[in-house]
Amino acid sequence: MSSYLVLARKYRPQNFSELVGQEVLVKTLTNAIKNNRLHHAYILHGIRGVGKTTTARIIAKTLNCLNDETRFNGEACGTCKNCVAISNSHHQDVFEIDAASRTGVGDVREIIDSVAYAPVEARYKIYIIDEFHMMSDSAFNALLKTLEEPPVNVKFIFATTEIREVPQTILSRCQRFNLRRLDESEIIDHLKNILLKEGFEAEEQALNLIAKSSEGSVRDALSILDQALANNNHQNFLPSLVIEQMLGLSDRFAIIELLENFLKGDVKMAHKNFANIFQNSSDVEQVGKDLLELIHKILSIKLINDYQIDAFSKSQFDKLKYIAENTDISDLIRIWQLISKSMSDISNSSSSKMYFEMLIIRICHLIAIPDLKQVLINIHQKKSSISSTTNSENIEIDSQELHKPNDLKIADNSELIAQILKNFEGSRIV
Ligand SMILES: [Zn+2]
Repeated sequence: MSSYLVLARKYRPQNFSELVGQEVLVKTLTNAIKNNRLHHAYILHGIRGVGKTTTARIIAKTLNCLNDETRFNGEACGTCKNCVAISNSHHQDVFEIDAASRTGVGDVREIIDSVAYAPVEARYKIYIIDEFHMMSDSAFNALLKTLEEPPVNVKFIFATTEIREVPQTILSRCQRFNLRRLDESEIIDHLKNILLKEGFEAEEQALNLIAKSSEGSVRDALSILDQALANNNHQNFLPSLVIEQMLGLSDRFAIIELLENFLKGDVKMAHKNFANIFQNSSDVEQVGKDLLELIHKILSIKLINDYQIDAFSKSQFDKLKYIAENTDISDLIRIWQLISKSMSDISNSSSSKMYFEMLIIRICHLIAIPDLKQVLINIHQKKSSISSTTNSENIEIDSQELHKPNDLKIADNSELIAQILKNFEGSRIV
């Protein structure tokens, strides 16, 4: 059985046209190559897994490609001797150096010394230095002079995730490219393409979740997909449940139900929801994060016109819309505050499950307390309407509104009301 090649390697872009989402870089570089107006040093900046090293190799290939026809169009052929060797990191004129492991001035001296010699068989001698920001200060200084006036047949390509840690003196001698994160729809399209080639189908929601979780990194998206296909025994259809379980995402419907029971103040049901969620995924912190995300979405639906959300199915979205239309903003904010303030305690607690169960009780208890400010406003309004018809001194309060004994009465005393409001505000800071 042939060994399995992971998707990120199998579908690594081999030339500029395959490089997804980096149009500015591709256009600038292909034009420079076509017009032979090349800079001697490039610095590629971007998050991990966005394709910096791959891009560096594509540049190296394009500059050294033996196929003039494609090269004059600013593209590598991918099949000539040089292209193949560079793709496999085996070309003797293309050096890939990891600055994370070779940070010292001695390593840079070695590079500087070798720069003086002409390339053995390629047009350009190319130095690709990954994790460039990891070089020591003395190493940067040693490199400076070479960067000022490198031999014509030498090119440097630096890749880094931390551009701010690269000295300005170096940056000013390089042409800089920011490799952007891909947005979710670009990642989804890319995944769909690959699945098609591999003969798989996936639930739309599964792809949404992968795209969301990869945070713009193609490599991360492909490794999640790889793992998901394996977890699904490479069956033809990939359901979103596999991704949810794999990423430790709690089932969204269960989370929505939990939030609904919070809003009803139903401890018993909320406790039951949580027990079910916990059975499938013991990551309590994730449950908290999912709830926060959910509340954010609901409030956004409520307050922002045509708010679009992804990673939720149609029926889930409808459910969120229903909650948004039928819930007070203040209740959602109260629950948000309670959960967000408990997140660090949940992660530090020796029993996060127990902590969360206490949080459920707290949320349901607090949500069941009526909005006292509103009750007082109601009292005031009721008093005004009564005093306009009678001269009654005292106002009877709706007992249900306060959850207090029936005989509670409040006199027309603005100081008392102010005092209650003051206490109320203090006690409601959660
Ligand atoms: Zn070639």
